[in-house]
Amino acid sequence: MDKNLNNLFVISSPSGGGKSSLIEALLSEPNAQNLSLSISFTTRLKRSTEEDGKNYYFIDRKEFEKKINNNDFLEYAEVFNNFYGTERQKTEKILKSKDLLLELDWQGAFNIKEKFIETKNIFLIPPSFDDLKKRLKNRGTESNESIEMRLSAAKEEISKHSSYDYLVLNDNFEFALEDLKKIVLNKVSAEDFESRVTDKLLNKLLD
Ligand code: 5GP
Repeated sequence: MDKNLNNLFVISSPSGGGKSSLIEALLSEPNAQNLSLSISFTTRLKRSTEEDGKNYYFIDRKEFEKKINNNDFLEYAEVFNNFYGTERQKTEKILKSKDLLLELDWQGAFNIKEKFIETKNIFLIPPSFDDLKKRLKNRGTESNESIEMRLSAAKEEISKHSSYDYLVLNDNFEFALEDLKKIVLNKVSAEDFESRVTDKLLNKLLD
């Protein structure tokens, strides 16, 4: 990727970690005009609350494989038995004029960092597994089986926290949004960012 591009941010969190609503609020900030969100392609079925072209581009496996073979993806990964991918051309085009936010799982986050070292990786940490479970249940979009699969993946995802530049605690929407604004809009460096995630919490989550 070209060095003279704008800032690239990747946000990851365990499923139910509250990324989407925080990102929506971040994009609505008055000083977020220079920020854009990439829309991924997925083979996952559309939820009743989702819109094609807004949340994702929903395609079938055959189309997804075609795009892999055409080298259309900057990165792609299999997550919870479905494929998700970031389109190369769109991403590179946006980055020429704006900062860009990618919402990716840990595999995508690490792939992008490898390709583009200046990427700022942000991980949203839940205050507890109970909190994640509650959010997944309240969302009302996942089957019990899907909720269990997402919860059991969460621990493994959290165990990768040290590979992220910023850890943001999502215990409270406003506080977490303030932290994201500092990182993405005010460009506070990883060294200067005061994370509210404590070792005690990480140890508890990973116990
Ligand atoms: P969900 O099914 O809940 O929308 O997303 C499942 C996981 O896939 C989330 O962790 C989300 O961040 C991740 N994801 C969404 N789009 C992409 C993508 O383009 N690439 C990768 N690697 N992960 C993605």
